[in-house]
Amino acid sequence: MVSALYPGSFDPVTHGHLDLVERALPLFDHLTVAVGVNTQKQPTFSTEERVEMLREVLPVSDKLEVVTFSGLVVDFCRARGIGAILRGLRTVSDFEAEYQMALTNRHLAPQIESVFVMPSAQYSYVSSSLIREIVRNGGDVSSFLPAPVEQRLRERLSRD
Ligand code: ADP
Repeated sequence: MVSALYPGSFDPVTHGHLDLVERALPLFDHLTVAVGVNTQKQPTFSTEERVEMLREVLPVSDKLEVVTFSGLVVDFCRARGIGAILRGLRTVSDFEAEYQMALTNRHLAPQIESVFVMPSAQYSYVSSSLIREIVRNGGDVSSFLPAPVEQRLRERLSRD
């Protein structure tokens, strides 16, 4: 059985993240989407809210699970017997950061393999941070975000 972990901030989940999950799902027997509790970033949504939105918009599948995690990704994988880390590659700039992360993770846990999937071209420039900026300035993000997520983001940012 091949299990993978898809770690990230998902602040909030975008169509880019969903596109990646749909592409990766047939490749694995089980896919765990893991929302990181990152103490260094000040998130727009709490960890619980990010999990809730993911559960709402991810496809229904026995192979999919949404969890939170803190600490090292490789430690989390080892504790759960997960052998692969899934990440998305959008641009060359993603590659640099992901390359560094993948080799560091390999150093820490040589038995865990990083797997990279490219999103559909229409999502290859979509990021949660850019979307937050567009919403803050009143722009249209409906093609980048699932409707319930867009609504929650508008409500959240209008209070700032
Ligand atoms: P992190 O803070 O870990 O980068 P993100 O939620 O921004 O968290 O991204 C998590 C993963 O999802 C990363 O591998 C990132 O490259 C990927 N990702 C984010 N947005 C997209 C997108 N539009 N298309 C494909 N992959 C994406």
